[in-house]
Amino acid sequence: MSFNRKSSRQMQQVTVKTIEQVTPRVRRIVFGGNTLADFTVPNPGAHIKLIFGTKPNEPIDDPRKLRSQMRTYTPRYFNPNTKELTVEFVLHGDGLASTWAAQAQVGETLTVAGPGGGMDIPENLKTMVMLVDESAMPTAGMVLEALPAGCNPIVICEVEDASEQRSLSSSIEVKPTWLFRQELGAKPGTLLENYLPHVVANVKDFDDSFWLIACEANTMRRMRSHLLKQQGINKDRLVTRGYWKSGASNHPDHDYGES
Ligand SMILES: Cc1cc2nc3c(=O)[nH]c(=O)nc-3n(C[C@H](O)[C@H](O)[C@H](O)COP(=O)(O)OP(=O)(O)OC[C@H]3O[C@@H](n4cnc5c(N)ncnc54)[C@H](O)[C@@H]3O)c2cc1C
Repeated sequence: MSFNRKSSRQMQQVTVKTIEQVTPRVRRIVFGGNTLADFTVPNPGAHIKLIFGTKPNEPIDDPRKLRSQMRTYTPRYFNPNTKELTVEFVLHGDGLASTWAAQAQVGETLTVAGPGGGMDIPENLKTMVMLVDESAMPTAGMVLEALPAGCNPIVICEVEDASEQRSLSSSIEVKPTWLFRQELGAKPGTLLENYLPHVVANVKDFDDSFWLIACEANTMRRMRSHLLKQQGINKDRLVTRGYWKSGASNHPDHDYGES
């Protein structure tokens, strides 16, 4: 399994076409626009950059300002025929992107850069293990759709409560294990962390498996360390990503937990 970290900075202006409230904390927004004519179908695990608060066609020349206005999201679906791009936003509370998504209206515009990165999934993979929170469920769905026939997916999703359960894919049926923070008063990521030993016990052969852990950055690091140091998993079989970090705004998109 290999992971491509490169991303494209080509920027496109897009328009909100439809908005669907999927769960109380997730909004699915479909963007359209002729500018998406050159958008490429993303690999599973790819990301895009969304640039907020810019006026249409107004270039941001100051790189620091540009960075502060950008957030990283998953191009969940791209339909090359209709040139529509779907993004699923977690409404986590205060935050440039979350606030924008909570208030977005059809017809609004936004700037998109990318896509970039993503995984090449080997044809002979036997077991795909994914431990994700709600922000990485779009990635988990993309990975599921790219798995070879016969590959066994093991998916653990940590969400706020039972009302946040949602289908990971419209084409692949999988029954994730759901972990609910609210009923235990748990901090984000800690339920995934506590559940990790159960998952390890159920994976028969590490060498036939590949692991994706994507969630809050501090918990991701502890899970990475557990798998590498206590379980001796080969690091080439593991992709870990801090999708966001507790208390930090605009956490960098390249936090793989390696340092
Ligand atoms: C490769 C990649 C793909 C991603 N794909 C998606 C995606 O498809 N959908 C999605 O919703 N997110 C996704 N994320 C996560 C998203 O980039 C972050 O959640 C981002 O911080 C949101 O920006 P913001 O402006 O709303 O909040 P920020 O301004 O970055 O942060 C404000 C505050 O909110 C907290 N916060 C940020 N995110 C969360 C969260 N998810 N839950 C709880 N508290 C949070 C921060 O700790 C901070 O205290 C992805 C991240 C990466 C690296």
